[in-house]
Parts: sequence; C-alpha cells; structure tokens
Amino acid sequence: MPKLNENYLNLKESYLFAEINHRVKAYSEAHPEKKIIRLGIGDVTLPIGSKMIEQMHEGVDAMASSETFKGYGPEQGYDFLRNAIVDYYARNNVSIEADEVFVSDGAKSDTGNITDLFAQDNVIMIPDPVYPVYVDTNIMNGRNITYIDANAENNFLPMPDHSKHADIIYICSPNNPTGAAYNYEQLKEWVDYALENDAILLYDSAYECFITDESLPRSIFAIEGAKKCAIEFCSLSKTAGFTGTRCGYTIVPKALKFVSSKGIEMSLNAMWNRRQTTKFNGVSYIVQKGAAAAFSVEGMAQCHENIKYYQENAKIIADGLAKKGIRYFGGVNSPYIWFECLNSMDSWDFFDYLLNNAQVVGTPGAGFGKNGQKYFRLTSFGNRENTIEAMHRIDQLF
Ligand SMILES: *Cc1c(COP(=O)(O)O)cnc(C)c1O
Repeated sequence: MPKLNENYLNLKESYLFAEINHRVKAYSEAHPEKKIIRLGIGDVTLPIGSKMIEQMHEGVDAMASSETFKGYGPEQGYDFLRNAIVDYYARNNVSIEADEVFVSDGAKSDTGNITDLFAQDNVIMIPDPVYPVYVDTNIMNGRNITYIDANAENNFLPMPDHSKHADIIYICSPNNPTGAAYNYEQLKEWVDYALENDAILLYDSAYECFITDESLPRSIFAIEGAKKCAIEFCSLSKTAGFTGTRCGYTIVPKALKFVSSKGIEMSLNAMWNRRQTTKFNGVSYIVQKGAAAAFSVEGMAQCHENIKYYQENAKIIADGLAKKGIRYFGGVNSPYIWFECLNSMDSWDFFDYLLNNAQVVGTPGAGFGKNGQKYFRLTSFGNRENTIEAMHRIDQLF
C-alpha cells in the first residue's frame, strides 16, 4: 500500500464557493420569480481587448505553417514576453532583468509551487484573513503556520512585530479579500523586518493594476532592499482578463541568496529556474503572444478600459455603503469591498439575510479566515446595471 501524504487530512474542507452555490440554488428553486444578483465572484467578466486577441490570432496562424510553427518554448517564457515585462516594470520605475522573470500559467500555481524551495521547519507567517492558497499549500507540505491578525484596528494592514521571528512571510497587496493596500512606508517596514530576520517576503501583486493612488507602490521592488528579500507573483488574470486564458509571471531577483546549513550559498533564482525547467514545460506560444500585447502601451491602455469599468462599479458599491454609514475597506485600489456585517451578524447569517431579503449574493468573510467571521466581501466584477440594482436593493433594505 502506498503511504499517502497524510498532511492532506489536515486541510479544512474547501466548501466556500460550493456552499454559496448550494444556498443560491436552493433559494432560486424556492423562489423562481426572484432575480438574483451575484456580487460574490472573484472572476473578471469583460472580454479581452482587441490588441491581445489580434496577437493570439497571429499565434494560432503561426502554428499552421511549418515556417512559423512552434514546439516547446523556453520553460521560463519567450524572450519577447520576458522583455515586455521588464519594459512594463521600467515604465513603473522599477528595474528588473529579463532573467529574473519567469512566465507561468498563473499566480495560483506559482504561489503554491514556490513552497518546493523551502525546507520543512520554517516559521511561516500568513495574515488572516487571506487568499486560501498560501495556507493550504503549506499545510499540504506539513508546515506550521503562524497567523498575524488583519482587522479593523490595523485597517486590515498588519505590520511586523519586531519581537517575533519569521522565516517566510506572505503579503498580498492590494489584498484579496479585504481590498486594503500597503503604502511605501508600510512596505519598507516589512522589507526592513525581512532583512533583519534573514527572512523572505512572498509578495502577491495580482491586483497591482487596480492601484489608482499614484503614491502607492505597484511592486515590492519599488522598495529599497527588496531584491535581497522578496519574490513577487503577478498575473494577467485580473489585469488583462486572462483568468481563462492563463498567464502569470514571477520575479525572482538574482540578488536573492541565502546560505545553506553547510555554508553553501544558494540562489533562489537558480533554484526556481531548476524547479520550473524540471516540472514545467512553459506557457503556450499563443497565450504568450497575447500576454506580450497586454504589456505594450496600447494593450495596457485597453486593459485599463476594462479595469476602469470595474473601478466604477467598485465606487458605486462603496458609495452605497458610505451612504448607509457602513464602514468599508478597499474599493479604491482594488476590485473588492470588505465591510462588517450589519448588527454584528455572523458572515454566513448575513449571507442568508442578503440573499433572502435583497437577492444579492456576496462572499462570507469566514471563508478567508477567523478574522473574516463578521465581515463580508462584495466584488466589482459584475455588470453595471446589476451593480446599481444590487446597491439600490441594499439601500431599501437597511
Ligand atoms: C486572482 C488571484 C491571483 C491570480 O491567480 P491566477 O492563477 O494567475 O489566475 C493571485 N492571487 C490572488 C490573491 C488572487 O486573488
């Protein structure tokens, strides 16, 4: 009999979206005449811009003739895309090199796979509430997790406790689920903490494109010292509408080096390169053509038209809550709006309350950690008309 990875027994059942669907289905079967509005989805809905589509069509055509046909490409991504990403960072005043960029099928895979590079006995620090991937991938590897509280007192932006040591720290900013985004000073403090502790920051920047406040950093590498202590994960999923097309990228600086127990210097860039070339065979040429277009000035302008639409939805939601005197987080530099459930309701009770009385579906905060127990997430990825209608119903309700 094979001995199984029994760490899987320690995973909590991932029932959040299944349970939401189950409750919505039961409600709509009992009330077929009611129109349900879904503001719970963490997925984009607008089509991909024409520049990206055009380039993907070119990629398809290239496969049709022997002169331009592509087989396996470089596991790390084609140079044209790695260079386009370097240029994009340069336009945001961050300097990285092409061989620090690793193209992949998405940030979910990379944030999970990165655990391959670390030994068992590390102090892993993860904020609560959080994107569940960081937690579950460490549990699958049998690692213990130390949680740090994100709550209303710290505006859902926990800061380092210099009296406590950590080896590996996960940060997501702008944050899913809370929408909160760190400023320079706050991220500098995290970088300083990581350098002090000889630790590494695993920085998820999937929502950088939603930052409108120009004073906020869009990359951890905008912070001095970060190249010695951080890896950045990013994705075209929310930026360019690639959730179904699949393309992400991870920046692993060459300056990121630690010493082994036997005193050998180990480069994380070299290790990730080895990991990816061993276990991954690269992203489709067709998709990389589309991705490179997204990083061009014209392509990015098209991406921002879609992002602007979501941002306007976010403002409608945020204004609707503000009008009712409900304190919310996010909604400005993020597609997510996070707020305390009314009358201190538990998040699942509030979910049922909104579904039954306003036919609006959101996401209960409890699905993201204990600090989400009394919070609720609405997203701006719906259509305009429905978003307005949902906020109108909420306005009538309270
Ligand atoms: C959506 C999202 C991603 C992107 O994942 P992909 O695999 O690239 O689609 C990464 N991190 C967070 C926190 C997200 O919400």
